[in-house]
Amino acid sequence: MRLYNTLKQRKEEFIPINEKHVKMYVCGPTVYNFFHIGNARPFIVFDVLRRYFEYIGYKVEYIQNFTDVDDKIINKAFEEGISPTEVSEKYIKEYFVDADGLGVNRATAHPKVSENIDAIINMIEKLIENGLAYDVDGNVYYRVAKFKSYGKLSKQATKDLENGASGRILINTEKEDPLDFALWKKEKSGELSWDSPWGKGRPGWHIECSAMSRKFLGDTIDIHGGGQDLIFPHHENEIAQSEGTTNKPFANYWIHNGYININNEKMSKSKGNFFTIRDISQEIDLEVVRFFILSAQYRNPINFSKDLLKQANTALSRLYNTRDNLLFLLENNRNVDNEGKIEDWVISLSKYKKSFKESMDDDLNTAEALAVLFELSKEINSSIDESTNRKSLEECISIFNELTNVLGVVSKNKEKLLDVEIEEMIERRQIARINKDFAMSDLIRDELKEKGIILEDTRDGVKWKRVQ
Ligand SMILES: [Zn+2]
Repeated sequence: MRLYNTLKQRKEEFIPINEKHVKMYVCGPTVYNFFHIGNARPFIVFDVLRRYFEYIGYKVEYIQNFTDVDDKIINKAFEEGISPTEVSEKYIKEYFVDADGLGVNRATAHPKVSENIDAIINMIEKLIENGLAYDVDGNVYYRVAKFKSYGKLSKQATKDLENGASGRILINTEKEDPLDFALWKKEKSGELSWDSPWGKGRPGWHIECSAMSRKFLGDTIDIHGGGQDLIFPHHENEIAQSEGTTNKPFANYWIHNGYININNEKMSKSKGNFFTIRDISQEIDLEVVRFFILSAQYRNPINFSKDLLKQANTALSRLYNTRDNLLFLLENNRNVDNEGKIEDWVISLSKYKKSFKESMDDDLNTAEALAVLFELSKEINSSIDESTNRKSLEECISIFNELTNVLGVVSKNKEKLLDVEIEEMIERRQIARINKDFAMSDLIRDELKEKGIILEDTRDGVKWKRVQ
């Protein structure tokens, strides 16, 4: 398999440290809010990378952290009058609700900063011992100038960075150099804090990933992943911390996914083009979002709009139709020739497996892989009928499921409501509303929504549509 390695700026053959074993760390969410469509991309992309490795016979150790110590969490706690831990615990739960909806499997472990303070303190102590960090009155900083290969990931010379950094208005006079970054922050009143050799305080952001990756996966890992926006400074700093501690390479492959734009503009709260996954889930099944994100190769930018999501929904339902057709014929199979051999055209479907694999081996090209799925789907649909024997139908389903499972699409077993059933439920809801039984009317509305039916109350009565 070839993967684009940001560190080398080219596609490289993936060679793991241990045969058939992958150690992978991906930066997880800061848990102070519901996550948005941009955050969702790495979760989905690295979930597929993990599934694909497992598909081709690797054992995968996959760590994705929760940043549960952060200014944003502290601010949110202050706003809501609850503790930072209550904020982070709440949004960790919500993370799993949305990740489940997107079909993102649990990582091997999801460590939290608050539960790994010891590992963080140990690493900072080691960095001080190695001359790469210094304590100024309870704040500990990384001494960037001492780490010779600083900038190797983001391909920036420290000189250029220095010019940039000193050009900023706010100069922290505590630091020896504007490029130095905080490893440990001295306690400000009312914040979360822990005892440390430098007094009470809390870790800076970057150190957590270095410490947790080392604790859970060891000194050198195969893959470190995340969004492109993390390359600098976060991942550059992670390299400085980890390699400064162990004197060994930190990660052999650095994999970064591209951005998501909203209606061709950069996503921003102020422009109002900001969508959380939770919001989107009110309108459309989240599997469609997953399908949509995988319809582009992971490094390419994606443009997101509701219209494009609708198109994705239509495309995904074509794949569902293929599966449903196969299942229908299998249930109503009139060809009782159970001894019948698998038909030749079915045997030749293995060519799609081969090209699917070729696409995925080429830097996880899920766009191509989906195109292969549609070709497979087309051939199946045009070839099956009542005369197709059971073994052939079963083989078709098996190939189809094998490939869709790698991408984590067409994963739902939906019981489709018939139109008459929908009409009947709408009528029951109308009666409930007339009787002012709004709890009942809401219940029916929710039940329909769960089955993918959205109601719209208009002047001409209730209209409904299928959204999945
Ligand atoms: Zn990180």
